[in-house]
Amino acid sequence: MTIDAVLFDWGGTLTPWHTIDPFACWLSVIQDEAQAKALHEAEALVWATVKDTHRSGTMDDILSRAELVLTETQLRTYYQWWDEHSFTDPQAEPMLRELRARGIKIGILSNTVWPRAEHERIFERDAIHHLIDGSVYSSEIDWVKPHPQAFRAAMDAVGVTDPARAVFVGDRLFEDIYGAQQVGMRAVHIPHSQIPAWQTTGVEGRPDAVISELSELPAVLDGWS
Ligand SMILES: [Mg+2]
Repeated sequence: MTIDAVLFDWGGTLTPWHTIDPFACWLSVIQDEAQAKALHEAEALVWATVKDTHRSGTMDDILSRAELVLTETQLRTYYQWWDEHSFTDPQAEPMLRELRARGIKIGILSNTVWPRAEHERIFERDAIHHLIDGSVYSSEIDWVKPHPQAFRAAMDAVGVTDPARAVFVGDRLFEDIYGAQQVGMRAVHIPHSQIPAWQTTGVEGRPDAVISELSELPAVLDGWS
């Protein structure tokens, strides 16, 4: 079986998982404890709704729930706060190049409230943006992983039609592994994230392969070709 495309989760997969303090992040943005708390709580509520409904959320949803407006400068501070927590795994670039050399399309499918521009800024900073054929950020569509429409959107983004010839790589057994398998993709688990208990669900897919490092991926694909 030829593999046409490999689609990647972002956080905890292409970029190593960092356990962060979201309140500290908001406090760096807005130096008012009550307002930072409101933003932190709004963010948690938006993500809880995403988790329960599989409908996407956005940064605007967080701000409107907190009943706050941030200036452009404050928003820049927010995204800059993440800079030291968003470095791309050094193994990603050579691995992606190797896949592209085999004619495999590379895609991204991320559950995120951030707009596309912030993700692309990070990929450009870390010199992998040119290796990505197509990407879907849930903030731009109605659904999040594990909803099948999110996976179909990601396939459309890289121009492939047969899920049996697509592989998904992610760190979450429900959103990434179960979700990808529900639409007929093979799923590779990279279990290196300290995912908080409240973000997990009882449903877990059984991955078709498990890797401990991104550099192991090409050999896994070879075994399926
Ligand atoms: Mg992830």
